[in-house]
Amino acid sequence: MADTSSVVVDTERFHKNPFLDKEISLIGDPFVGGPSSFLERLKQGSTLLLETLTRNVLEENNRMPGDDDYSVYTGKSGVILTYHWILSQNNQELLINPSIKKMLEDFVKEVMSGHLLRKKRITFLCGDAGPLIVAYLITNDSNQRTELLGRLLQLQDLVYAKGSSNRDRTPIPNELLYGRAGYLYSLLFLNQQFPQDPPLIPYALLSNLVSIIIEDGLRNNQRGNPPLHYEWHDKTYLGAAHGYVGILYVLLKARAYMKEEHVRHVKETLDWVMFHQFPSGNLRSSVGSKEDKLIHWCHGAAGAIFLFLEASKVFEAEKERYLSCTLACGGVIWTRGILKRSYSLCHGTAGNAYSLMALYKHTRDLIWLQRSCLFSQWCFSWGNSTRQPDRPISLFEGLAGSVYMLHDFHNFLLHNGDGSGSTPKFPSFELD
Ligand SMILES: [Zn+2]
Repeated sequence: MADTSSVVVDTERFHKNPFLDKEISLIGDPFVGGPSSFLERLKQGSTLLLETLTRNVLEENNRMPGDDDYSVYTGKSGVILTYHWILSQNNQELLINPSIKKMLEDFVKEVMSGHLLRKKRITFLCGDAGPLIVAYLITNDSNQRTELLGRLLQLQDLVYAKGSSNRDRTPIPNELLYGRAGYLYSLLFLNQQFPQDPPLIPYALLSNLVSIIIEDGLRNNQRGNPPLHYEWHDKTYLGAAHGYVGILYVLLKARAYMKEEHVRHVKETLDWVMFHQFPSGNLRSSVGSKEDKLIHWCHGAAGAIFLFLEASKVFEAEKERYLSCTLACGGVIWTRGILKRSYSLCHGTAGNAYSLMALYKHTRDLIWLQRSCLFSQWCFSWGNSTRQPDRPISLFEGLAGSVYMLHDFHNFLLHNGDGSGSTPKFPSFELD
């Protein structure tokens, strides 16, 4: 473990977890319905928040992000994706206002016309890949899909663009929000959503992209440890949004496209990331940080848990070691993860509910399901956070994220978690 002397542990950013040690009696069996059950409360809570979202989108003008922010992360595409996803779930059609359905159709036209696209950002969360793929999901028109796929593939020109600096570093970063890992996520997601033979995105393209991300990490490495070196804005971030967690998670999901030596580099780098876990179980936000404070998806344990879980599946021989890191992440999320700042996916309680759910999906230990459900219940009171997000109805910073999570959890529990319904997945990040 890295030097832990003078680590400062935050005590201000989170609510003291009121459920500590009482979780089982508070929820009962989450799979069981009935008048006063958690499942029923979840149904009501998710429906109410969806109504609030729709009111904000349709009635309270200016709450829907405008053309200045088309991103999945904080903009229009994320809200559209939320509605499309809810519509695509069984029996959810009745929940959606007809005007919303029209809004989805109009969105596809806007993306097709090209005026929403910026042609300079590549990723799913913050770039053109997001609206292109959201439109691809919504439309059933094969000509439109061909056009959208063509534009998605054209973004490769930016992915491969070379910089002019004397260190031969390219202007495109490798992280998830703006960089190559975010483009790689987009392509993997599309192949998973539309499995076919041959695949929509061919093997050679994915294999080439994975190699570029790894070769760039090797080239940037000047000190020898870890083998892959990635920075964003001259800082060595560790978390999911801008750092190693996001990059390595997507690379592990793309391991079928990776050379054996590249898998080895990824594993050694991953082991180096684990070295930066605080004694509390949280992960440093960046190398050298002494502040154990952010329990977020973007920075900290709530994002890292997905990487360590994936590692425990991929590197079977060492799964216990990775699982123990994962459980430490789960512990700190549980004790310090009900955040004052927000209910959001990116840095709020809804995202942390997904992190605990991921632990349940892997371990099948009901304690993690109970804890995840209690976090989801906390989000019923959306709107009571200490800070109003800049994009209050967006998917990653606002209301749409809580709506997505509550519906995701409800669908899962309603079908007894047996796989006949959907399985909760952190939207726009977690891959099968
Ligand atoms: Zn965040």
